[in-house]
Amino acid sequence: MLTDLFAPTEFKTVPVQLPLAIDAAYDYLVPENMELAPGDFVLVPLSGRQRIGVVWTFDEDEVRTSVDPEKLKSVISQLDVPPLPDASIVFAKWVAQYNLIPVGMVLRMMMSARQIFEPQKPRFGVKFTGSAPPRMTPARTRVLELAENGLVWPKKDIAEAAGVSTAVIDGLVKAGTLAQTALPRSHLPEPQPRHAVTKLTAAQEEAAHQLRAVVQEGGIFSATLLDGVTGSGKTEVYFEAVAEALEHGLQVLILLPEIALTSQFVARFEARFGCRPVEWHSSISANERAKIWRATATGEARAVIGARSALYLPFCKLGLIIVDEEHDTAFKQEDRVNYQGRDMAVVRASLGDMPIILASATPSIESLVNCKSGRYRHVRLPERFAGKALPEIAAIDMRTDPPDKGYWLSPVLTEAVRETLAKGQQALLFLNRRGYAPLTLCRSCGHRFNCPQCSAWLVEHRFRHSLTCHHCGFTVPPPKACPKCGDVDSLVPCGPGVERVAEEVVEKFPDARLAILSSDHAPNVQALKEVIRTIAEGEADIIIGTQLVAKGHNFPGLALVGVVDGDLGLAHSGDLRAAERTYQLLCQVTGRAGRADTEGRGLVQTHNPDHPVIKALLSGEREEFLEREIAQRHEAGLPPFGRLASLIITSKSRETAQDYARAVALRAPASQKISVLGPAEAPIAVIRGRHRFRLLVKAPKETDLQAYLRSWMELVPKAKGDLRLNVDIDPYNFM
Ligand code: ADP
Ligand code: ZN
Repeated sequence: MLTDLFAPTEFKTVPVQLPLAIDAAYDYLVPENMELAPGDFVLVPLSGRQRIGVVWTFDEDEVRTSVDPEKLKSVISQLDVPPLPDASIVFAKWVAQYNLIPVGMVLRMMMSARQIFEPQKPRFGVKFTGSAPPRMTPARTRVLELAENGLVWPKKDIAEAAGVSTAVIDGLVKAGTLAQTALPRSHLPEPQPRHAVTKLTAAQEEAAHQLRAVVQEGGIFSATLLDGVTGSGKTEVYFEAVAEALEHGLQVLILLPEIALTSQFVARFEARFGCRPVEWHSSISANERAKIWRATATGEARAVIGARSALYLPFCKLGLIIVDEEHDTAFKQEDRVNYQGRDMAVVRASLGDMPIILASATPSIESLVNCKSGRYRHVRLPERFAGKALPEIAAIDMRTDPPDKGYWLSPVLTEAVRETLAKGQQALLFLNRRGYAPLTLCRSCGHRFNCPQCSAWLVEHRFRHSLTCHHCGFTVPPPKACPKCGDVDSLVPCGPGVERVAEEVVEKFPDARLAILSSDHAPNVQALKEVIRTIAEGEADIIIGTQLVAKGHNFPGLALVGVVDGDLGLAHSGDLRAAERTYQLLCQVTGRAGRADTEGRGLVQTHNPDHPVIKALLSGEREEFLEREIAQRHEAGLPPFGRLASLIITSKSRETAQDYARAVALRAPASQKISVLGPAEAPIAVIRGRHRFRLLVKAPKETDLQAYLRSWMELVPKAKGDLRLNVDIDPYNFM
């Protein structure tokens, strides 16, 4: 074009996005001799500091502010890091736009392996030079026996193998017997699609066929819900889709909700594909993160299993995404950057033109409605593997069969545990409450122990000898005397937590081997994994667990699941998913029983045996229950038939928070379709000393809720001082 011909050509600029809470990329001059392309990592100056950013792209409709070329600064250097793939940039923009997050914050998640930007240190090993040392010792002899064949050994490894200190190795290097040499970079093992092919049942084969087919379609977005009862072999079935993708040379991403607890999953992957998958979650080391980041960017990492944050890895050849336990709300991230990981995974698949498989025994209503509308394909596995029956589930009516005073297990449940143990089988008691007792009060004056920083009770933890707030972590040792009236030994625990049930179990079954599966009873992830292993290998007779036990574990010896409080979770007013979630949790936890050679049984203690959730659980009639839930949501215009967003306003001062919340509400643009509810004080009114107010925005499905919120936020006065305004799109938490 003519205009181009006459445009100034002396300088060239690129937009660079920085991983900060900013929404736009800044322009920088490109020095002569530097060739930059979108995705390249560069070092740029910003307010007197050097920052790492990414050469960004602009869609045609994006508005750019033009900067005076005189004021532009130059890119300092290009970094020797694989570029961020185009797909990641497009995805970052989408996530930012949808969730009202500054795009820089999404980029920040994509750059979470900070060590990739540090120069790679070559690793050194040692090698036999052929010349013997002037003086031999038994230790040196052992080292030489190993080194003789001329292979390169990492120093630490050869010292360990020879049973000597590294000083011995250093001595041999000094003597000229061993030489330092750069170690070749270790490569990730490659999963083999046909390593150990599982013989599938006819029903499984049928499902696997459909999943393979979506991969074979190649380069087309599709979403499939793999809806199979607990123990039906969903993992085996979707592994077939994984194998298919691997055979096509594609990368695979498997998202799991509780990645830290997945040793069982890793072992199964290894058995099927001959090597461990790459694992990505918060507890891997910085070094390992950098290595994995690079390996996903180069394509060397073929299969990654990870927590939701794995979505932000720079996959260069991603061809299949699987979200296991897709109903699990652990996929929803709620902190400064809010997003629903499962939903973003669907977006990633759609933007990248690839299939996604969502697997669950208790699919979310969102996914089921997508199946009904034809947006998702629906693949079912209605039966357990090898003709195993689903557990027989019965209710224990706590009104007619209550526990003895001071106990929590009714005689019926106690007897069932006794029978199970007598048969040499395992029993699980499930109570979704950490600690000993949820409330402590003073018998003399009625004083309740509250958190000083939150509107919440302190939970007694006997195991850790503390009163602890589950919202902020505030902890004090249980006092001898009531702080209000001074009476000594007057404190009484109210209600049960897992520790209190454990106390009852120890009293009733003194000889049984007990395992407690709760985050408080394991100092770290490793210890938790160990408890899970113990249970899986039958080294425990009675297991007492919080919701951690409901997470897809395979406990072959487990025959009985007793739900200590089936009503817990049903009373959450204000949470539109309370019934759905309680159903999912109870179904999952009872579904742990009878997966291998034992017949399974579930007993649910409840005061409401007629509640729809309990009835659905007992009858196994999931569809009716879900149909009703779906109809109710439809009628009320709630998700997935309508859209919601929460605005949460917090401040150290209640008045400041409330005034600001009112000011925000006042500026809501008038709309025929969108309604704004509140502000109202949040059900948990104070957390960490911050007072909380909420607004709920409700919109019909077809409205552009984000556009509405964006125009609203432009009218809202800036949150000053310690005020915070947090926007949560598609909220799952209404507290
Ligand atoms: P789900 O994920 O549906 O709960 P899993 O995939 O964990 O089910 O399978 C349950 C158990 O049955 C696992 O121990 C699994 O190894 C076993 N299993 C399922 N299908 C097969 C099969 N075709 N051959 C051998 N074992 C199977
Ligand atoms: Zn607290």
